[in-house]
Parts: sequence; structure tokens; C-alpha cells
Amino acid sequence: MAIVEPIGEIAVTPAVEVKAAVARARMAQAAWGALKFADRARVMEKARTILMREQERFIEVIRRETGRSHFETLMMEIFPALDSLTYYAKHAEKFLTDKRPGMHLLRTKKLLVTYKPLGVVGIITPWNGPFILALNPTVQALMAGNAVIVKPSEVTPLSGELVGELFREAGLPENVFQCVLGDGETGAALVGAGVDKISFTGSVATGRKVGEACGRALVPCTLELGGKDAMIVCDDADLERAAGGAVFGGFFNAGQFCCGTERVYVHDAIFDAFVARVVEKTRALRQGTEGEYDVGRMIWPRQLDVIERHMADAIAKGARVLCGGNRNGGFYEPTVLVDVTHEMSIMTEETFGPILPIVRVASDDVAIEMANDSIYGLSGTVWSKDEARAIAIARRLETGSVCINESSITYGACEAPFGGRKQSGVGQVNGEVGLRGYCHAMPIVIDRFGTKEEHVWYPYTADKERTLQKVIRWVWGTPLGKWMS
Ligand code: ADP
Repeated sequence: MAIVEPIGEIAVTPAVEVKAAVARARMAQAAWGALKFADRARVMEKARTILMREQERFIEVIRRETGRSHFETLMMEIFPALDSLTYYAKHAEKFLTDKRPGMHLLRTKKLLVTYKPLGVVGIITPWNGPFILALNPTVQALMAGNAVIVKPSEVTPLSGELVGELFREAGLPENVFQCVLGDGETGAALVGAGVDKISFTGSVATGRKVGEACGRALVPCTLELGGKDAMIVCDDADLERAAGGAVFGGFFNAGQFCCGTERVYVHDAIFDAFVARVVEKTRALRQGTEGEYDVGRMIWPRQLDVIERHMADAIAKGARVLCGGNRNGGFYEPTVLVDVTHEMSIMTEETFGPILPIVRVASDDVAIEMANDSIYGLSGTVWSKDEARAIAIARRLETGSVCINESSITYGACEAPFGGRKQSGVGQVNGEVGLRGYCHAMPIVIDRFGTKEEHVWYPYTADKERTLQKVIRWVWGTPLGKWMS
């Protein structure tokens, strides 16, 4: 029997059809972008009502493609989708309404900053959060007045298509949202089809290709890529909470979560007690496909090869398996490892599976140094009862975001700008920053008084230069001038 049974077939959108979709989107965007925020918000609110009412239908499709538990699907796909639809409907106007910042120096002018939609946004998504990672950027781009074309992962296309279904039922005008289907070829076609922005979520290798293609076409993009997130457990951490957080952070979505906990650094003083609790909690996890269970199968069986390669390398170099360690059809057992080092790929490459390697460290400094010893920098967590100490550690981490005494939930916090450092990404999504990223901030400078000419216009004379020097001396050479400038 195959590890994962096929559940259907999709028709791939040919490149010429992708171009046609962009043309249709551009036509439809004009009217959508001209609507008031309140009118766009109404569509989001309608979509929320439909999603709340018909969540089971959505969960069913997502579960068939991912093998995830019902609870986890509700928690990581439906709940944040409802939040995203509500939050951006409520706040987009505040973030994107015209601003009139005063002019600090050129006081004879006024400044108006207006946020114009970019036009057509292409959103390319991965398979690990197939509904929310398509819906959340879509909501932001739509509320900013753009038309959207999503290219879902070829591994989970039906979950991506659900976004279109939802907005169609919510009354979004035709062609303001479209889905194109296929693999990397279709993704590449979308990047080259004349869109005004690409929002990409996926692997580093593909992100680099997308970034290069966007660079050539001078199309702005955000790249949300992989991670190797570190968890730092201080000697004053609440052991029970930290152990629970490690197990959840490591095994949530069977480890297929870009902000999943991939490395744990634990202070020497509590190491043994912490590891014992983590192993106990891990052993209690239930794997399955039906009824109540905690950890599902791997969504994309090819990921099992990566896990097995990392595990074999770690064991060959001296790692000890405290529990788990076996592949079981399409599943991989939740696994706890110790005696791991940064010579092992399990500590340096993204595993994206249910593996929790734990390292003993002597101090906060060593933990920080080891956490930063990575090509990635997506997120990370710090666990301590002393908030000031935890924040001080967080500030020193070379990573996109940090959670304290909590597993990585930043992507789900609408207010928090989200994006990676180093090879984990380029640019940020979500919140005010994310919404603004789907716009062009256009400054309009307006002269106030309508004088016949400006001092700096032609002709240039010695007299005018002397006056300009006087202005310079007054503005940056006197206390009053410095205060006013
Ligand atoms: P994963 O889903 O494993 O994180 P990828 O990074 O390969 O994997 O894929 C993320 C998304 O990027 C998928 O929708 C995939 O089809 C798409 N994709 C793959 N190659 C390209 C490419 N060259 N250009 C644009 N999109 C691509």
C-alpha cells in the first residue's frame, strides 16, 4: 500500500492561462481597489460567517490532504483564518488611510501620504499550512485593495482552492481572487506573468529561485522561508510548562511547521529533570488518523527521507534516542534525542519532522551562542521566570521573532510583523507592516502659500547663496534652529 493514497487529480493551469488570469485580475482590481474599506470589510465579514458556519466542510478537505487531527486543523487553520478575516477587516482603514505627517523642515509645504494598492499580487504557498498560509496573505492583499492570484502547493491544492470557494460564496467580485494550479512551473509562470508583487512561503532553495526571478523582473517580493528554531530553557524556568512547550513546539503538525522547535538548549542545572519530563510527555502522545489523536502522519512523504537522513547521521555521530526514532508507514514517531552536537545535520539543517534534539548548556551566553550558530533565523523561544532575563536573551538572538514562555505563535499574532533573518527570509508580513507591504506609500507634497517663486530656483546668485548659508547656520547652528528642525 502506498504511504499516502491519492485523493484526486487536478488540472494544471498552463502558463498562457496564468498570464490571462493576471490580465483578468488587473481588470477586476480597478473597481475593487476603488471601493471604500467598509465595503471590502463587509466581504471579509461575510467570509467569516460562512467559515464559522461551514467549518466542518473546510476541515474535512484540509484533513484529507494533510492527515492532521481534527483539533489541530481547527486550531491552526480555521481559528487563525477567522481571526485574520476579522482583524484586517477592522484595522485596514486605520493603517492605510491617508496620513498627513507635519513637515519638520520645509514648513511652507504640506505632506499627504496615500497608500495605493499595488495592483495584482501573486501568492505562492507551501503544503504545511495549506489553507491559512493562502488565506492570511490574501486577506491582507485584498483589504489593501489588490486583486490576488494564489498558486497553492501541488501537494495540497484543494485546501488552497478552498480560499477561492470561501470568497466566491462571500460575494467577492469575479476575478478579484483566482487560483492557478500546478507545481513549480506554474509558480514560475506566475512570477513572470506581470504581477506587481509576489508573496512566497516555502523552502529556502525555492525562495532563492523566486527571489532571483523577482529581482530580474524588478517585482517586489516577500520570502517566508525555513527555519531551525532554537528553544532556550534557563535554570529558573517553570519545568512543567517548559517541557510541555518543548513537546508541543517540536511535534505540532508533526514537526512540519516553519517555526517549530528544532533545537533545545537547556541549562545544566535542570537538564536531567527537563529531559525526563519531555520524554514522559512524548511517550504519552497518540499518533493516528481516526478519532482522537495528537500527532498525524507526515503530509508529504518525501519529508520522511529528510528525517531518516538526519536521524541516521545523528546516530552515527553519537546521538542517543530516548524515545521514538522509527518510521512507521507514513508516520514518524515523535522522537527525543540527546548527546547531539552541531556537527550533526539534525542540528544545522531544517528537519521539518517530529524530532526534538536536546543539548546541555552551562550558561545563557553559551545557549545564545549556540542558538545563533545557524544559517537560519526565523523564530525562537526563551523560557525563564525572570522576564527581564528572558527579554535580554531574546534581544541577543539573531532571529526574526522570539516568544517567551510560549511556543512560537508569532505568525498567529496579527499585530506582530513576521519575517525571518539570515536565510529564513526577506521582508515581513502581517500586521500594519504587512498591510503596508501590499501598497505603495505615495507621498504628495503640496505647496502652502503659492508664492511666485522659490528661493532656490534660477537664477543662482551669490546673494541667494549667502542667504542659504545664513539659513544653514541658523537651522543647525542655533539651539532654536536645532529644536525646530
Ligand atoms: P515546500 O512546499 O516543500 O516548502 P517549495 O519551497 O518547493 O516546497 O514550494 C513552495 C511553493 O513554491 C509550492 O507552491 C511550489 O509549487 C512553488 N514553487 C516551486 N518551484 C517554484 C519556482 N521555481 N518558482 C515559483 N514557485 C515555485
